Formats: sequence, C-alpha cells, structure tokens
Amino acid sequence: MTPQLTQFGEEMSHLTGVRAIMKDIIETLRSGQGRQFINLSAGNPVILPEVEQLWRDCTHDLLNSPEYSEVVCRYGASQGYEPLIEAVINDFNQRYGLQLTQRNILITPGSQSLYFFAANTFGGFAANGEMKEIVLPLSPDYTGYGGISLAPEAVKAYRPSLDVDQANHRFKYRPDFDQLEVTDQTGLVLFSRPCNPTGNVLTGEEVQQIAGLAAVHGVPVFVDSAYAPPFPALNFTEMEPIFGDNIVHCMSLSKAGLPGERLGIAIGDAEIIHALECFQTNLCIHSSRYGQAIAARAIASGELARISETVIRSYYQGKFQVLEAALDAAMPQDVPWYLHLGQGAIFAWIWFDQLPCTDWQLYQQLKQRDVIVVPGNAFFPGIREDWAHTRQCIRISLTASDDEITAAMGHLAELVRELYQGQSLLSTAAAATV
Ligand code: PLP
Repeated sequence: MTPQLTQFGEEMSHLTGVRAIMKDIIETLRSGQGRQFINLSAGNPVILPEVEQLWRDCTHDLLNSPEYSEVVCRYGASQGYEPLIEAVINDFNQRYGLQLTQRNILITPGSQSLYFFAANTFGGFAANGEMKEIVLPLSPDYTGYGGISLAPEAVKAYRPSLDVDQANHRFKYRPDFDQLEVTDQTGLVLFSRPCNPTGNVLTGEEVQQIAGLAAVHGVPVFVDSAYAPPFPALNFTEMEPIFGDNIVHCMSLSKAGLPGERLGIAIGDAEIIHALECFQTNLCIHSSRYGQAIAARAIASGELARISETVIRSYYQGKFQVLEAALDAAMPQDVPWYLHLGQGAIFAWIWFDQLPCTDWQLYQQLKQRDVIVVPGNAFFPGIREDWAHTRQCIRISLTASDDEITAAMGHLAELVRELYQGQSLLSTAAAATV
C-alpha cells in the first residue's frame, strides 16, 4: 500500500542529518564480512561501570520501596514525577543560588522531544501566517535540529567566525555578532553548550550577549545543555550554566548513562514551561516514570553530579587527549588540518581547509581503510547559502578504545597525506577561505 502523506507526514517520514548517514554505516558494518572496522561514528555513550552501578543501585532501591507500584503501574502528571521535580529544584537552588519553584520545571521523554515542542510552539507559522524563525546562532551544531520543525524552512543558522591557530593546527568557532540577527521574525534561539559535534563551549559572555539580543524581542533562548554540568559534566573547560528570564536551560540524562530511559529536563520561565507542558500532554502525556524515579534518587543523593565529575568527565577528557596526541604525531605538518579545541562533549571535530574532495568522499575513502567517522555536512542544519566549509569537516566519537583511536588517526593521516599530495597549502589556508 502507498498511503497518501500530508505535508507534515512527508516532512517527518524521512530521516535527516546523521540518522540518514547511520543507515549507510550500519549497512557497511553488516556487509563487512569479517572486516574489522574501527567505528568512530557512535553517538551512544560508553557504558562506564560506576555509572551503570549507580543506576542499578537506584533501581534496586526503587524495587524495594512501596513507591514501585505507584511509579510503574500508574500514569502521572504531565509536568513530571514530583520527587524528580523536587530533586531538580533543590539541587539547582542550592548549587546556583536560584529560586526555582515547581512551575519552572518540565520533564520530557528525552531532550530531543523538548526541542521539538519548543521549535513548534515558538517557531514555524504564527497565527497571523508569518514565519517565525528558529535561529541557530552558531553553525555547525547538533544535527537533530534539522528535523525538529514541522516547517523546516524556519530553521536559520548563522556562520561563525573562526579563530585559527595555524602553527598548532587548532581552531575554534565563535558566534559572529556582526552577522547574527534576532528580530521580531525570530521565534526562538537554540544552541548546544558544550556543542555536539565540535566540542565548543560558548563563553558566559557570549551566551549573555545572545540572550540580550533575544530579550529585546521577547524571544526565548533554549540552551541545549546535554553535555553541561552538573550532569553529565562533560565540560573540559570552566563553564557555568547561565540562567535568565528568557533562557530555558535544557538538560538530558542520556550522556549520564540513561539514554534508553528518555529523560530531558527544562528549567525556565513558568509561562514558557506551561506552553511546552501542554504540547507534551497532547503528544505523549509524559516521560517514563521508572526513569524519572531512579533519576530522582541519583540527583537527590548528589551521586549523579559526583560520578559525572569524577568518572564521566575524566573518561572522555582522557580520550580527547589520546586523540590529540595521535593526530599531532601522525598528521602531516604541511597540510591545513585543524582540530577544534576540545572544550567538552564526547566528540572531536576536524576541519580540512581546501580539502581536495568532499567530506562524503573522505568518509567513503576512510571506510576503505576500515575507519568509520561521520562526514561533517550533516551538522550544518539551517545554513542557507553555499559554504565550502560544510564539506570540509568530519566528526569523530571519543567512544573507541585508546588503541583504536590511535590506529584510526594513523589511517586518517595516511589518507590525508595522499589526498593533498603535491599541494603545499598551509600558507594559503584558513581565514581567507571561510
Ligand atoms: N542535544 C544534543 C547536543 C545531543 O548531542 C543529543 C544527543 O546526542 C540530544 C540533544 C538528544 O538527546 P536526548 O537523548 O536527551 O534526546
């Protein structure tokens, strides 16, 4: 049967961004017939024993408590399971000196759904027919933002400025405040901090500046804090969450060991939270209560924040150091490759200036050498103009073993040397081309 799809059905029934590439990766792995690939594409966090034990302990505690049947055998409030909301309020009020109340918190089934609610509550077609834009102030950013709006043309991303350290083969994206516009046509602003895919962390001043631009027009700013402190605390540089009247601080439990339980948390203005809650009620009622109940325990005891800082952060920071050392040792000096500063998250991001092929071709050729990365093009949702940079980057997951990372960087270096052979590009590199 070929059912007739609506415009929204059409929109939502195909995969966007990395999900589409994952299909190719899974097929490659399946048809490998004994070939051993080094898979650096994974978005799934590593199962760390201490983290798994925390969730086992919380589950044990829940199973042995009279609360169990209330949690698992009953529907609950759409806003979220009360003990979890209480735990978040207490933790954040104490940690950051806030005055949050129940009305400031919403629990969602994963944070991806939270961005879907937000994108379609504040972005897309307004009641008067005008298009309200979903502004991504610094591209590249999370690939999932490409699929969150029922009106995908609403997503508008801005090119960044680049700080390039040519001698050391490092770079960093910064918001380009000369270009960035938040206007009456803007419905919401959204960015990840730390950033997937780049590992970038916008400074507190940059976040305040973006929030200030948005506040003038009464626009909410959603800060996707899936990798931020206090959990999973995947920041390798000092950073504090930023709160404010028009800032919605959005968290996820996925990188803290619970991706399967689908738990997101929004903290923000009561009116914004209420609108999102209604969307959620209409869509799916609420998140899994089992996940919420174990999260409540881990947050209230302080164990989640402690393990995040002492175990999760150091694990991935160590992986980034391995990758950096391997790249510096193996990559040719005279090729304009640039590793983004590793300030957080679970990925590394490399830009090859003036790459003699596309990122997709580079990905295909690396597969021939048994290494799987993610071509960077999927991480530029909302970029409307042609920009060569979108075809010059790759994302590498920090989820493989040290030996695999080192070996893979060796294969990458060989390929890159061949690709650029005969060209001495370093002198003409960088800022001029971006
Ligand atoms: N935001 C960012 C930046 C992510 O990297 C991810 C997942 O990888 C998500 C949101 C979605 O996470 P969740 O599992 O909470 O839906």
